[in-house]
Amino acid sequence: MSSLATLIKDDSLSSTLRIGFVSLAACSIVGLAAYVGYRAAGPQNKTYALQNRHPESNEQIEKVLESLRLDDEKLRQIMQYLEKEMEDGLSPATHKNADVKMFPTYVRTIADGSETGQVLALDLGGTNFRVLLVTLLPQSRVELTSKIFVIPQSIMLGEGANLFRHLAECLLEFMRKENLSLTGPRYPLGFTFSFPCKQEGLASARLSTWTKGFTCSGVVNEDVVKLLQNAIDEKKINVQCVALVNDTVGTLMACAYKDPNTAIGLILGTGTNACYVEKLDKVGTWDGDYNEPKQVIINMEWGAFGNNGRLNYIRTKYDEEVDLSSVNPGKQVFEKMISGMYMGEIVRLIILDLMQQDLLFIGQRDGYGDYSTPLFTRGGFYTKFVSTVETDEGIAFANTRRVLEDMGIRNPTFDDCAIVQHICKNVSKRAARLAGAALAVLINRINKPNVTVGVDGSLYRYHPRFKRNMEKCMKTMVSKNIKFKLTLSDDGSGKGAALIAIVADRYQRSQLRSVSSFDESEDEQIRIQFQQQPPNPVPPIVKATNTITRTLP
Ligand code: ADP
Ligand code: MG
Repeated sequence: MSSLATLIKDDSLSSTLRIGFVSLAACSIVGLAAYVGYRAAGPQNKTYALQNRHPESNEQIEKVLESLRLDDEKLRQIMQYLEKEMEDGLSPATHKNADVKMFPTYVRTIADGSETGQVLALDLGGTNFRVLLVTLLPQSRVELTSKIFVIPQSIMLGEGANLFRHLAECLLEFMRKENLSLTGPRYPLGFTFSFPCKQEGLASARLSTWTKGFTCSGVVNEDVVKLLQNAIDEKKINVQCVALVNDTVGTLMACAYKDPNTAIGLILGTGTNACYVEKLDKVGTWDGDYNEPKQVIINMEWGAFGNNGRLNYIRTKYDEEVDLSSVNPGKQVFEKMISGMYMGEIVRLIILDLMQQDLLFIGQRDGYGDYSTPLFTRGGFYTKFVSTVETDEGIAFANTRRVLEDMGIRNPTFDDCAIVQHICKNVSKRAARLAGAALAVLINRINKPNVTVGVDGSLYRYHPRFKRNMEKCMKTMVSKNIKFKLTLSDDGSGKGAALIAIVADRYQRSQLRSVSSFDESEDEQIRIQFQQQPPNPVPPIVKATNTITRTLP
């Protein structure tokens, strides 16, 4: 004690201690004030913080998200509606006004793995445009080189002629890069064009309507193969488009190349759509022959399901807002509840709504005066963020925190992260259940013991639980006597276009062989290299309209 007294008497030490005490007192007061302020700014409900940690037990948040929930009964109802819409699309009496168009594709033979050769393909999907060189080798092996090109917004919304000119320019650049000969026999090309088309033959298809943000003028009702071919010819490129393929069909074909049970192709990317193998006697709109195989692939264009208001009872105010601010209001109602182009935006609108109701980013809202941040910008929450957020497991929320900070939210709390993840899970689960129920309609209709669904698209590929949620729903909705499988059709849309182009070309070649007036004029020749003759001749595809002579190997 005496030594302490001596120490305190020391002038310099006592002044240091005094400063220390004053600082401590000041810190305590500031701390207390901050705490009182925090409590005052926070919600009245004392159990709030606890509830937020489990957003599903917060009644107010649940009330908002309840509008997204689809129980089994609702799904069964939707399945019945879809089946009815499909019948309308297939029947000549109702086809014109049907939303789900059920276009016959003129692709009747399914790849069987025996196809070999080398072809070019273009894949215009909605977000990505790719040029591909595909080499199909024996034993279902595929070699693929591709390059992605950007379609600028100005071209997506501009004149159609410019769009096709741009595609031809990209093709030319790719061919130069790959050292493909730009003279001599023409290369066959398959064109994956993933927009609703009324197909009039394998290489002839009229665009019904643009979707997925495109509005190029002068293309609706025109033959897109002709528009593409004109642009290719203008550039004097030695390429001939022999098949136009919807991406769903390409995906089905690419998957069938490896798995003969494949009967459905599904896209979950920028948009959503499906195709399946239908019996000819069910296709009232069929105008081709009834030879074997008595089947044709139907491109459903299921994204338009609900355009007539059928699905209004399950639509939320967020769906309506997404629709109203789109370039095609009232159209693609089903697609807008499911696909990548819209999912992130639905999440963003729910986040803003919860903020508005003081249920999210509490006490910090005034800090978000900067309305130029992605959170306040239409399309600012990318669908890939939904995947990123849902990848977080446990309580660290490292990914979610990063996403929210990128959106312009400073220091999101644990609760904020938990709520945002909960929103993402609800939105993506609804999408997966809708897609799963619609697939169940097709699988039950096909009614074979084993049905494989080939799937392509970044939403399906990258979302951590989309597949699982779909399968769970399908297990309930698919007839118990049917086994189904979802298979990622790697690069399906591009590879499939190449496959169809090869099958078409092979068919045309066989037709030409049987025609006596076989014209071998040089500039009409098509370059095709078959590495081996197929073990089983593939039955014909009808209405392969381009009859082009070419050099036979
Ligand atoms: P396309 O539809 O043009 O053929 P994709 O299949 O690659 O192209 O789909 C692209 C769309 O997929 C993007 O517009 C985006 O909405 C969505 N997407 C991209 N990455 C992811 C991801 N990691 N998780 C979920 N969705 C994604
Ligand atoms: Mg695609």
